[in-house]
Amino acid sequence: MKILAEKKALELLNGIRNSFADDVRMNYEHRAKSCLTCDTPGACCLDEHFVNVRISRLEAVAIGGVLDSLPIERREAVIERIADAVERFGLDDRDHPLKTYACPLYERGTGCLVHEKAKPLPCIQHACYESAADLPPDEMLDRAEQAVHAVNIRTYGGPQPLLPIPAAVERFARIRQSS
Ligand code: SF4
Ligand code: SF4
Repeated sequence: MKILAEKKALELLNGIRNSFADDVRMNYEHRAKSCLTCDTPGACCLDEHFVNVRISRLEAVAIGGVLDSLPIERREAVIERIADAVERFGLDDRDHPLKTYACPLYERGTGCLVHEKAKPLPCIQHACYESAADLPPDEMLDRAEQAVHAVNIRTYGGPQPLLPIPAAVERFARIRQSS
């Protein structure tokens, strides 16, 4: 199998994310409550009993790229929050599927730090819908996740573990640090 360059893989990942986000936006999101008028913005990202998003190595590398572009002080604050989350919620390389956590990528006033360029697929799918029937179907998320899985295999030569966001970023993202 010819290995895909990570840069090319990140472009493919971006294409999968954008097409998934377009589908959600055009066909489902209009039935959901607007996050702009939410009384508890970020509750969905900061609820340590709710967030259970798992991501792959390539998605963690994409998140690392966004964090790398932040000014140094802000970047280091996020790195610290990520380390805190790994420790506080007992997240490690061996995933425990039922473990939940508060996401360290949420910043009050800004929202999701990776919203534009590296938001994970389950986060794109998530919104507050009145009726479960209005939600984007799980098969849609499954298809997009399978496509990301295939790009991971082509890039890293084999299947990659799915880990909670803080653990995946800590393990796979190569974020610049000052010391
Ligand atoms: S998804 Fe729901 S809880 Fe989260 S910000 Fe939007 S409206 Fe608020
Ligand atoms: S990645 Fe962004 S949208 Fe997803 S849980 Fe974290 S802050 Fe929320």
